[in-house]
Amino acid sequence: MAVKEVKKYPDPFLRKRSEEVSENDDGIKALIADMFETMDEEDGVGLAAPQIGISKRIIVISVDEKGFDRLALINPVIEYFSDDTGTMEEGCLSVPGINADVTRPTKVVVRGTTRNGRMVEISASGLLGRALQHEIDHLNGTLFIDRLNERERKRVENELEELERQYTAIMK
Ligand SMILES: [Zn+2]
Repeated sequence: MAVKEVKKYPDPFLRKRSEEVSENDDGIKALIADMFETMDEEDGVGLAAPQIGISKRIIVISVDEKGFDRLALINPVIEYFSDDTGTMEEGCLSVPGINADVTRPTKVVVRGTTRNGRMVEISASGLLGRALQHEIDHLNGTLFIDRLNERERKRVENELEELERQYTAIMK
């Protein structure tokens, strides 16, 4: 197991659509262990494989709800979004130092495979529903900052520009 480096906005890798995981993909358990370790090290509540540079449809989540304190899902798909929406503050290990209000459906139903190969369907609201949507967004190259309303977007504009400057400086 190892803590991996988390890719930061505006790294273009975060914008790629991640690949489906095939059934006989060796190394998935080791990858999931690395993802949990990285998430814990960074004090996150969730992490998607592309955030550590792996283009695979895998997410891990740790929220304080029974049975979901160590959830890993392979090839997760959102099967249902509620019409009801709610607004909560979000942050992201790939967008450090920025928190902003995001409006999303309050409830989702997600289907996926656990690390033991079991197909599960999870009906989730609250923090779990929120975390599932945020992490699955990562698999499609979407970041929470893409979902801000105009007011929130303006509010964090300078901080985003600062991250862009830091990224450019590292690349030079
Ligand atoms: Zn994130």
